[in-house]
Amino acid sequence: MRLENKVIIVTGSTTGIGKAIAKRCVAEGAKVVLNGLEEDWGKQVLNELGNENAILHIEDISNDNTVETLVELAIKTYGRLDAVVNNAAIVASSNIQTTDKNFLRRLLEVNTIAPFALIKSALPQLSKQHGCVLNIGSVNAYSGEPNLLAYSITKGALTTMTRNLGDTLFRENGVRVNQINPGWVLTETEIERKKQHGLADDWYTHLPKVYAPSGRIIQPSEIAAAAVYWLSDECGPISGQVVDLEQHPFIGRNPPKDSSTIK
Ligand code: NAD
Repeated sequence: MRLENKVIIVTGSTTGIGKAIAKRCVAEGAKVVLNGLEEDWGKQVLNELGNENAILHIEDISNDNTVETLVELAIKTYGRLDAVVNNAAIVASSNIQTTDKNFLRRLLEVNTIAPFALIKSALPQLSKQHGCVLNIGSVNAYSGEPNLLAYSITKGALTTMTRNLGDTLFRENGVRVNQINPGWVLTETEIERKKQHGLADDWYTHLPKVYAPSGRIIQPSEIAAAAVYWLSDECGPISGQVVDLEQHPFIGRNPPKDSSTIK
């Protein structure tokens, strides 16, 4: 098993990509600290993983002391902390008209400042284990869709943080910091979000090739499979890297011939 005996905090693991990462971590031999907002969903994940493999803490990651509580839980329950996955995020639509300062501040708090605070709080423990951090970014960090303005800004800042700390923390503390940028992933929430935007119930079964060359979008388990590499010792000394996980390149792509849009 590739993560045997490692103890890993996965934020936002009550659903979606975080849940898939937590499940895969346990399948690879790790113990996980689960976190998120939805108590019912969190308990379901905990049931699936088993009380011997996971512990759940439901609380807003941006509250004062939540990150400290997650680190304490890992140490109290399992005696060590090897890795942190900063996955929790608010995924919300907004453009220049609908983004005000408070909205931007709220997204920055959850998507950027909370990951920073968790890394800082976990650092003494991660240093002891020569552990690692995996930030979950987004391909929207490069520029982002027009209606994902605030969200894209938060992921851009997260990307710079990954590169900056991926250099400093590895040199000074032996802690690797890397980031994966999922493309379009078919989570339970994403299915509902698109329905609320007016798409058909089965929107994900007929997608334009421009967005989904394979005819489908990515499964959370496929992102989780990639996460294991960055969390495992197989990664060796690689740090400060940001890797896109999408079906097409983001830099240098030619304008699509198929201009039909559903996003
Ligand atoms: P999701 O909306 O399905 O789940 C989000 C998770 O974060 C939930 O567990 C929720 O409880 C938690 N969360 C949200 N706000 C929180 C807060 N304030 N405190 C604690 N927990 C909080 O999201 P997802 O689609 O699985 O996305 C997971 C990560 O992947 C995010 O960082 C997102 O930006 C990124 N991502 C997703 C996609 C996609 O297509 N689904 C694409 C690119 C990047």
